[in-house]
Amino acid sequence: MTSATAPHSLHQAYALTPVINAAGSFTPLGVSRSSTHVAQSVAAALQSFFIINELQTLASERLSAFCGCEAAAVTHCVSAAITQAVAACITGTDQAAVAALPETHGRANAVVIPEGHCVNYGHPLVTDIRLAGATVVRAGSRDACSLDDIEQALDRPGVCCLLLVSSRLTAFQNLDTRGAVAAARQRGIPVVIDGAAQDMRIPELLSTGADGVLVSAHKYLASPTAGLVLGTRDFVQRFRAQEAGIGRGMKPSKEAIVGVLAALEERQAQDQVAWKKQQDEKVVLAVALLHKCPGIEVTTDPDPAGMPFQRVRVRCLEGEGMARAVVQALKAGSPSIWVMEHQLEQGAIQLELVALSEEEVRQVVDAIGSALCDQTSD
Ligand SMILES: *Cc1c(COP(=O)(O)O)cnc(C)c1O
Repeated sequence: MTSATAPHSLHQAYALTPVINAAGSFTPLGVSRSSTHVAQSVAAALQSFFIINELQTLASERLSAFCGCEAAAVTHCVSAAITQAVAACITGTDQAAVAALPETHGRANAVVIPEGHCVNYGHPLVTDIRLAGATVVRAGSRDACSLDDIEQALDRPGVCCLLLVSSRLTAFQNLDTRGAVAAARQRGIPVVIDGAAQDMRIPELLSTGADGVLVSAHKYLASPTAGLVLGTRDFVQRFRAQEAGIGRGMKPSKEAIVGVLAALEERQAQDQVAWKKQQDEKVVLAVALLHKCPGIEVTTDPDPAGMPFQRVRVRCLEGEGMARAVVQALKAGSPSIWVMEHQLEQGAIQLELVALSEEEVRQVVDAIGSALCDQTSD
């Protein structure tokens, strides 16, 4: 999936900063790198016309067969998919109601979401909900949400959907997801799960009984920017009905749908065991090389949301100030190296190596070593 020699010609032609992304599927850096097969399919798509509905039908067939759901569709991204999914729960396929959004004209429009799931992935997730004309009902507290909290929030008039987020960004991971889904379904309330970065856990998320699971195809699937909705035939139909309303600005491009098909073909052909081994080997390499650097403690952490790879955690023994200095030095270098920064307060940075070649792993470790030496000799 990863090309060892990234095409630097664009960086040269436009004098852009070359980047090594060890920060995961990070939107400000362009999220992921597509394979040659995906890039070539996309290039071919750009030079052709298609019947978009035919592409959507094909994507639905392929995605459903792969994920084990009744139907699927492609939209612009998961941010768009959240808005479109909420709209689907408000209007169904009623054409007048679809055209009227974001005016809801008295329809049920309250979306229940655990407070700790109201994450910010560059903007507040609740903005995606409110864009559909919905109001947000937060269940539980920032740090916890019990089944009682969910049931209390669901038992009010005007609830149109329960939205759950499966992400490393959520404040807690211990929600009884299956129980929450069942509580909503008992009341006839549809459930949508935002599993944007969870494309290797789709069957598990679908098995909760959710009506729709939303996944970013441009994260670990490494397609062009695209949001996938996977779920029941009925839900996907209501989702796609929004294309005649607020979904217009969220449409998937022809090249995105073709890119999703190509990325899916690669994922299907991929030996998951060999892939996981490759990821583990990069982690082992990084840890072994980092152990030679002074002033740090190196450990590995599993992906917090259950994706099948580990991250490398580098804690600076001198604390937060040193960690911040290292981050700045890495960014200022050439290529500019970006790492995960959410544990800086603990003096730690994290490296996600999935998108990196072995050569890039070595470059990252070298740069960290240099940054540490420069800081201690200052
Ligand atoms: C990345 C992410 C999104 C946004 O996905 P896009 O497809 O980039 O719009 C939404 N929710 C979560 C939990 C994410 O990680």
